[in-house]
Amino acid sequence: MRSFSFFERFSKAFQDYPSLSRIIVVSTISGGGLIAYSEANGTNGVVETGIRKKKVVLLGTGWAGTSFLKNLNNSQYEVQVISPRNYFAFTPLLPSVTCGTVEARSVVEPIRNIGRKNVDTSYLEAECFKIDPASKKVFCRSKQGVSNGKKEFSVDYDYLVIATGAQSNTFNIPGVEENCHFLKEVEDAQGIRKTVIDSFEKASLPELSDEERKRILHFVVVGGGPTGVEFAAELHDFVTEDLVTLYPKAKDLVRITLLEAADHILTMFDKRITEFAEAKFNRDGIDVKLGSMVTKVNDKDISAKTKGGEVSTIPYGMIVWSTGIGTRPVIKDFMKQIGQGNRRALATDEWLRVEGCDNIYALGDCATINQRKVMEDVSAIFSKADKDNSGTLTLKEFQEAMDDICVRYPQVELYLKSKRMRGIADLLKAAEADDGSKKNIELKIEEFKSALSQVDSQVKFLPATAQVAAQQGTYLAKCFDRMEECEKNPEGPIRMRGEGRHRFRPFRYRHLGSFAPLGGEQTAAELPGDWVSIGHSSQWLWYSVYASKQVSWRTRVLVVSDWMRRFIFGRDSSSI
Ligand code: FAD
Ligand code: MG
Repeated sequence: MRSFSFFERFSKAFQDYPSLSRIIVVSTISGGGLIAYSEANGTNGVVETGIRKKKVVLLGTGWAGTSFLKNLNNSQYEVQVISPRNYFAFTPLLPSVTCGTVEARSVVEPIRNIGRKNVDTSYLEAECFKIDPASKKVFCRSKQGVSNGKKEFSVDYDYLVIATGAQSNTFNIPGVEENCHFLKEVEDAQGIRKTVIDSFEKASLPELSDEERKRILHFVVVGGGPTGVEFAAELHDFVTEDLVTLYPKAKDLVRITLLEAADHILTMFDKRITEFAEAKFNRDGIDVKLGSMVTKVNDKDISAKTKGGEVSTIPYGMIVWSTGIGTRPVIKDFMKQIGQGNRRALATDEWLRVEGCDNIYALGDCATINQRKVMEDVSAIFSKADKDNSGTLTLKEFQEAMDDICVRYPQVELYLKSKRMRGIADLLKAAEADDGSKKNIELKIEEFKSALSQVDSQVKFLPATAQVAAQQGTYLAKCFDRMEECEKNPEGPIRMRGEGRHRFRPFRYRHLGSFAPLGGEQTAAELPGDWVSIGHSSQWLWYSVYASKQVSWRTRVLVVSDWMRRFIFGRDSSSI
């Protein structure tokens, strides 16, 4: 374990790709500039009409809710935001907060600072505990108390936007709730930072056995997903770059263990990234135990079972639990009410409308889009495409319907891409070949069904990420902005099972890439088009992207200055 000087760190990061670093600096500045431009252009008012404003109740101030609020730009609405948290938190930087690389206040923005000036917006600090779609009310509870010690109240809505996110999942494993730290909120990150430093202080006290000191300085991370891996890497950097010089005796006693139930860490990333991360952790001395399923956590030890059924119990000082997400109680309750009780998240259609409810939308981690299958609608699609009602479909008829089909069912396009087909003619030819017989291109319903029979295998579920939540928030705000306009002039695809067109185009997710910071100024980046980059250059890309993605100029300046402070002075190890 060695510590790095400022100049070593700086030159290490630049030495590989100096030109790329320059591009990144420029793109950070220009990215920030673009955001400033769009922020400055967003406040042009809409003329008041005197019509009663529609009341939109927005639950949640996370990625989805904030992005909705930031983009809604129509003065016909009155927005009531309700959330127990009066700020937005930039979650991708929470692992950096756990070790003081970035300060907690640098990654949050008060919600009252967010939103357009021309949209009438107010905020209530409360938690919604019940949604009643019949009376169009939400029931809320405030920690502060509203009147005469009463803490509960209700709010009416015309439109409800549910963006309450998800909670950490313990999988009901005994002892997890009581003994583990989670890493979901800013307070969690602050709690972890304090516990790490307290552990070093505790291990420095006199009259402790070496065994006990080792136990106190054993940090266990459960879950090899991006959050668990990033935290383990951050902690390793904090220990090697800052703490070992301050606590020299602790140097040989500290241990970091990462437990993962699957066969590899970072399984959602490209194989090259997984391999690199495992090899790097191995070199760094982070003990990665794969195929380890935690069965029980006591106050001083944790038990895990291997795939062979062998149970081992290891003493620990601190555990960070980061194994995935579960449903919040208010959402569970609502799902039971609307007949979705057996699902994991609120099911919506492709326009983010909660299935079976009027005027209720759900987005972000609390929801999942239930993509309509082609095979469910295949007969309706056939008769819509068969414009001359001949009972058969010519290639021309099919081609004319294809644009609407691809917008309504994105799996068709994905299927064509996955099979390297250029268009619909290839799809039909492939179906004919499967059929074994060469026919003219005039399809009967059975042939049409066989041509499309495989496309639903390409239905993709969206990951629970900030990127998805933010894009959904922007999409929904734009739909709300143009609700009336698109009622008159619908812009969506043809309704296959009804008349006319859908009001809007369905939500479409655009993946912009993902990062996995691995410590030591190295990051793995997976960008669209199977582009993988690992190392110091990607770390600069990471700095650049995360600086430009900040929700305000204030947090952008704070985060960048925190990074510079850390480069120059190292991380602060005060236990406050
Ligand atoms: P959240 O952002 O969780 O917001 C939920 C909001 O609802 C909060 O304001 C909460 O206070 C509020 N709320 C909760 N209960 C109620 C209630 N009953 N009534 C009213 N309001 C309520 N994603 C990425 O794409 N890239 C990353 O690098 C990345 N890193 C991450 C790192 C960490 C440590 C974590 C925890 C997550 C990370 N994610 C990342 C995932 C990302 O944060 C989530 O996918 C995203 O926050 C989901 O947005 P959301 O708006 O649905 O929920
Ligand atoms: Mg026809």
